[in-house]
Amino acid sequence: MGIIVKSAREVAVMREVGRIVARVLEVLVGQLRPGMKTIELDEIAAREVAKQGAKPSFKGYRGFPANLCVSVNDEIVHGIPGERVLREGDIVSLDMGAIYNGFQGDAAVTVGVGEISAQARDLIMTTESALMAGIAAARAGATLGDISVAIQNCAESRGYSVVREYTGHGIGRDMHEEPQIPNYGVAGSGPVLKKGMTFALEPMVNIGDWRTRADNDHWTVRTADGSISAHFEHTIAITEGEAEVLTVV
Ligand code: MG
Repeated sequence: MGIIVKSAREVAVMREVGRIVARVLEVLVGQLRPGMKTIELDEIAAREVAKQGAKPSFKGYRGFPANLCVSVNDEIVHGIPGERVLREGDIVSLDMGAIYNGFQGDAAVTVGVGEISAQARDLIMTTESALMAGIAAARAGATLGDISVAIQNCAESRGYSVVREYTGHGIGRDMHEEPQIPNYGVAGSGPVLKKGMTFALEPMVNIGDWRTRADNDHWTVRTADGSISAHFEHTIAITEGEAEVLTVV
């Protein structure tokens, strides 16, 4: 099948769904507070995505039971919202996907609950910087490996590790299209990027080791060593110049 190149019209629809996803995340971040249950975030996500005329992508995806992934502290990705109460000092990754007019948007942010440690703040800042470094490397004529290595170098230069078992991905009519986009790699390797390719870049960065383990719920992925982890994601489109970030309000 290979990497699907989108037309300008298709990218325009992805811009709309991207804006919806970004808006949902913005509302969630604005409402997040200590004492809140993670299921309340899921309810807000469901309400906001419906308000924008879109559908949540994750609910029912391979049986995932919620609208939103909520991953706290040592949880990396795919956390299921529930009765857990957020406490001051926690860090929370919110990952939202939506579908609108046949196209998908996917984005994630990590935020602190109230006051968080300096180390947690640095991890969050570095993970967002790693995503931005990946986006900056995502230019027509560069390769997929150039994105991967830009993300990896940013995280590892701060002494952190990038998760290896989970990757970014192509995105379009399907949430997961080719290619997989690892957050580590070799510059100049892999397919050459072309205008109209659309990707979800999503570094997952750990303070400790990169290894992971999955919970008995078969969804929640956490660090094997119990260290905290952050996750940022944007859906982007390759253009003739700098990549366009689609998941912005
Ligand atoms: Mg994704």
